[in-house]
Amino acid sequence: AKFSSLGLNDWLVKQCKAVGITKPTPIQYYCIPQILEGVDCLGCAKTGSGKTAAFALPILQKLCEDPYGIYALVLTPTRELAFQIAEQFRILGKPIGLKDAVIIGGRDVMRQGMDLADKPHVVIATPGRLADHINSSNTFSLKKIKFLVLDEADRLLEDTFAEDLQVIFDALPEKRQTLLFSATLTDKLEKLQTLALNKPFFWQS
Ligand code: AMP
Repeated sequence: AKFSSLGLNDWLVKQCKAVGITKPTPIQYYCIPQILEGVDCLGCAKTGSGKTAAFALPILQKLCEDPYGIYALVLTPTRELAFQIAEQFRILGKPIGLKDAVIIGGRDVMRQGMDLADKPHVVIATPGRLADHINSSNTFSLKKIKFLVLDEADRLLEDTFAEDLQVIFDALPEKRQTLLFSATLTDKLEKLQTLALNKPFFWQS
């Protein structure tokens, strides 16, 4: 199988090739066409499965077709993961001059506020710091995002994040495409699924 057969545009296929990504991994093969069709996804996948590109590629394609304001929000439990996700978005989105903002604890709040006000295409955030920005700022809005990605959702569901997730979900539009990835399926995840996903495509290796 090739990326071009999954419905991705030439510029993305070329960019993949340029960075050494030539053959879709299983999660990419099964999820990318669904995401391009507008379907919510629930993917059971560990780091190393290629899950980041599985959501980044279709988001970049859709973003090109209809860019408007902050387009996608990716929530992830750790700073390290946020950097890794941002890095993949930057590499794959280079041909379109992708603008991203990484919103994580331990970094300059003012600077992040300016990044958010600058209407990045993609916001990659850990829940605590993003919730702080939502609570303290009116210089940006997440009300028109088209995509919500919950990366390592099982870890996002730990109690420490519960309040922050509530703040964030309250700031999001109901009409959006939600992509949820998790290494494990827990009871909590099933609850989140029913809250956050609309007739999802389910993928498990
Ligand atoms: P992830 O599972 O998203 O953490 O990705 C793990 C690594 O695999 C990243 O460094 C990606 O650049 C790389 N990768 C993603 N998709 C592919 C692919 N189809 N072929 C080869 N490498 C890939």
